[in-house]
This record gives sequence, C-alpha cells and structure tokens, in this order.
Amino acid sequence: MSTLSSPLLYQVLLTDLPGHRLTIRLTIPQPAPDGQQLRLPAWIPGSYLIRDFARQIETLQATANGQVLPVSKLDKQTWEIAPHAGPIEVEYVVYAWDLSVRAAHVDETHAFLNGTSTFLEVLGQADRICELELLAPDAHSPAANWTVHTSLPEAQGHPRQAARRSFGVYRAPNYDALIDHPIEMGTPQWVCFDACGAEHELVFTGKIPNLDLERVRRDVQRLCEAQIRFFEPETARAPFLDSSDRYVFMTMVTGDGYGGLEHRASTALMCARHDLPVIGQDALSDGYQNFLGLVSHEYFHTWNVKRIKPAAFAPYQLDQESRTRLLWVFEGFTSYYDDLFLLRAGLIDEAQYGKILCKTIGNVHQGPGRFKQSVADSSFDTWTRFYKQDENSPNALVSYYSKGSLVALGLDLLIRQKSAQRHSLDTVMRALWQRHGRDFYLGRAQGIAEDAMPALILETTGVDAADFIARHAEGIEDVPLQTLWENAGYTLSWKTASELPDLGVRVQKQEPSLRLATVYEGGPAHRAGLSALDTVVALDGLRVTASNWDSLLGRYRGGETVEIHVFRRDELRRFTLQLAPPALSVCELRPASEAARFPLTSVSVSAPAESAIHSL
Ligand code: ZN
Repeated sequence: MSTLSSPLLYQVLLTDLPGHRLTIRLTIPQPAPDGQQLRLPAWIPGSYLIRDFARQIETLQATANGQVLPVSKLDKQTWEIAPHAGPIEVEYVVYAWDLSVRAAHVDETHAFLNGTSTFLEVLGQADRICELELLAPDAHSPAANWTVHTSLPEAQGHPRQAARRSFGVYRAPNYDALIDHPIEMGTPQWVCFDACGAEHELVFTGKIPNLDLERVRRDVQRLCEAQIRFFEPETARAPFLDSSDRYVFMTMVTGDGYGGLEHRASTALMCARHDLPVIGQDALSDGYQNFLGLVSHEYFHTWNVKRIKPAAFAPYQLDQESRTRLLWVFEGFTSYYDDLFLLRAGLIDEAQYGKILCKTIGNVHQGPGRFKQSVADSSFDTWTRFYKQDENSPNALVSYYSKGSLVALGLDLLIRQKSAQRHSLDTVMRALWQRHGRDFYLGRAQGIAEDAMPALILETTGVDAADFIARHAEGIEDVPLQTLWENAGYTLSWKTASELPDLGVRVQKQEPSLRLATVYEGGPAHRAGLSALDTVVALDGLRVTASNWDSLLGRYRGGETVEIHVFRRDELRRFTLQLAPPALSVCELRPASEAARFPLTSVSVSAPAESAIHSL
C-alpha cells in the first residue's frame, strides 16, 4: 500500500533555453481509474486577471510503460488522459517568455517560474505531496553554474534531495503550496540576512553595476524586523515559518520595470536599475524609496492576504474569477502600511512620510471615477475593470489600492481619536492576524466574511466604524481627511501644482508630439469636445510639441479662450476651449501648533477593548 502515499513528481528540464521552453515531466503514481484530468490555473493569486496560462503549453503527451495513452482536451485549460491502471507519465512543453512577475521567463541567462503557469494540477489529488525535481543541466549548458533561489523547502531525506541553492528535489505538502513558491535560477547577486531569528534572502537578477547590496540588506532587514514585531510583539515569530525556513525576495531588474507579487514565503519583484542604490551614494533617491515601499508592501502581504484572507480566497478557485468586495482591506490596508513602515522602521522621517501621504491624497482626488464606484465595488469588479484599464478609467473607476489606503488612514485616525489613543488600526490588524491568519496554513483558521469588518473593529477597539465603512468603503463619499487631521492637531490644505491654467486633461508627452491621455469628465477639454487619444498640434495657431507645451500654455490665464487643433485619427479638428484657473491639486499636511505630535508614528500595543473582554 506504499503507493497510496506516493507523491506526485514534477521534473523540470531546461531543454531549450534560447527558445524559452521548459519541459515538464509529471509522474502520477495513482491516476484516477476513470481517466485522469489535468488542469492549469487561469490566473495567479494576487493578480486578478484571467491570463489563461494553459495557452503556453505547446505539446502534451501521456505514456505508461512506454505506451502512448490517448489524451483529449476538455476545455481551454483541462486535459483528460484515457483510463489506465498503474502509474502514468505526462510530458509537456511550456513556452516561457513573459517578462513579468506573473508567469515564467527563461533564456540563457536565467529561468524564473511561477508554478501557476508551469505545473499542471492533477485533479482530485490536490492534497497529495508534490515533489519538484529541478534537473541539473549538463556541463556544456549555459545553466551549468546556476544557483537556485526559492522558498520551497528541499525534500528532506529524498535520495536526490537538493542542497541549498542547488538543483535537486524540493517538496511541497500539496498542490496549493507547490504553486506558491516561485523559483529563480541563474547567476544573480544575492545576500542573506537574519530578521528576528529567521533567514531572509535578497536575490537580484539582471545587470546592476556597483549595486550597494549591503545597504539594501540593512534597510530591508529593518523593515522586516519592524513588521514581524508589529504582528507578534511578544514572540517576534516570522509568519512564513509555517511554510519554509526562509523568506526570499527575488527581484528582476530591468531598465524601467516595476511591480511585485506576494507569495506565502517569498515575493517576486521587478524594479528599474536606476531605483537601486550605487555603492558610495548615500542619499535616499525617490526611486530607492519606491523600491523600499514595494518591498514593504509585498512583505506585509505575508500576513495580510497570504494568511489573513477573504473567505472567497480560502481556498482559491483558480479555474475562474474569484470575487471579493474586500480588496480595499487586503490591498488598501497593505498600501497604507507599506509606506508607514518606512517611517516606523526609521528609513524615512515624518516630513518625507507626509509628502508620500499627500501625493496619494492628491492622486485619489484627481479622479472623478471615485464618485461613480466605491472601493468595495472596485474590488468586486477588478477582473474586468481595474485590471482592464483604458483612457476613460480615471472617469469611471476608483483604485482600491490608493483610495483603500485613504480609508485605512481615515479608520486609523478615527479609531485613535474615538478610543482616546488607546487603540488604532494596529489593534485591528493584530486581531485579524490572531483570529484569521496565524493558524491559516495549519488548517485552524478561516477566511474573513464579506461583512465582518465593522463588527471586528467594534469588538476589538470599542469604536463603531460601521457608518464610516458604509459611506467611504461601501459608498462613494470621500474620506473626510480634513476633519480627521484637524482632530489630530494637523492641518490639511490644498494648493495649485503650478501657475498653468487648467484644461482638465492628463497629457502624455511622446516626443515630439503631445497626446491627451485622459480627458476628465466635466472639465474644460471635455466641455469643448476634445477626446482622449487626440494628438494636439496647435494652440491658438502656434505649433505644439511635447517640449514647448508648458511654456505655450503658461502664456494664458484661467478664463481666457483658446483655439486648439488636434489630429483625431488622421483628421484635423479644431476646438474652442475656455481655460480654467490652475487646479488645487496638491495637498499639504502641517502641524497646527508647535505642540502637535504626529499621530501615526506610535504603535498601539494595548489590550483588546473592554467590550471584547465582555464578549468573551
Ligand atoms: Zn498588493
């Protein structure tokens, strides 16, 4: 009966690096007697768009004892192998040339792969142990000297067990875990550090001359320690130890990349080369601050969304869209805390943090779409709206990231004020962690119900936030930050970004021409008849280019009327437009008095609210 517990074996062969192809050999010891079905996910958790990864499987063949078995395709992502008693082997080829954190990317310099686009699920056997063998390339292969970086644990006791950072066999307890540990192989720059006793690894792929790896190591270590101590003030236990003995940051560095995707014990990041610090340069550039913010964001997800989850993601339905109205909690709260932890870890000061906050407030307030869609609706519809944006999106939708982070800020200020500083949003985050997150992978915690937040906040802090959530998260009202900051001893005010009159557009400078990227609904350009994607060629009879636009526009004042010529498709059109005064688009945050203390720096670690004690 030993085969009952036989693991599934996935072998990865680096067969065609120049052609960006991986061969996967899957051994199924006990296929379903009435025909074994295999399926690849349609999407990757954390990125809510149907991507149909199965379209990159070029060929698939099943055999048993060298005999070919018939295979039929049931839908876009599911195969069925004819019934066979006894072990079967499936071999398939995956095309892997997606330069992003979401799929797989392979060439002679490296291989990055996500399990969601590489490893077929053996339907009905999702709970079976999965062994993953990364086959060592031969000595002539460009991959011969590669190292392997992943949070997937090595298969202890297996005869071909991988040594640390090497080819060989790794092991996942089930399919869900197998596809949540991406793998980077190549010759990256890497460094390890310890945070609260847990091992962390920073891996940078791509050419990065004079990368100040030591500085990055130091800064990221501070961030990790601050977050671990925040969620576990007593034990300082790292969250990923339920899945791996290390956490891996794998970063792909390109000319202009940006993005990240969270996993249970690792994250895949992309950043621009110029965002990373150079040895000998100590200033905190905007780019490096952004990179640290991204690191902070993805690391915070280790708690919030990888373990504290909406019920809709526990478990994930990977063959189709999976909807929740709560992404404003999982992405919004994470976006709020990512920058806040730069401050709490001492990487930026209060003035720098205030600037980041004001930039977010300014961005959110620019989009008229926030009066049409709530962050809860934006969460629900993200698959077809937020993830499928176009030129009209600022008019039609709201970001559950940026407005979600303002909802978090508003809740934080509200709870601090109403609980007389005894509680804050921190209390809520820690309660979410204790009840829903800490034991999630131990099978002893459940996802959060769609309507759970108001009761949870009331119970843990004693503050009734039901009306706030109804108006600002479920509803479309702006978060009343002016009043909330005023109550906290700070003044929030608005000023103009420049002296330029306002057209109500966002322009895109594509040398040498100037294009209207967005025409804001109700603004001067909209009223005049201009459209997004129009190419502006003249202002009052003077030729417009990307480089002279600001200086030409700067000769006019709000209230004046101008003539604008544009090309729409290849047809010349003329519009008459009345300019508006410069918009108040930039916000400023200042202490109202000398004595005012910045409220968000302090981390509340007080006991649960009294009402919570009574309810026990
Ligand atoms: Zn996120």
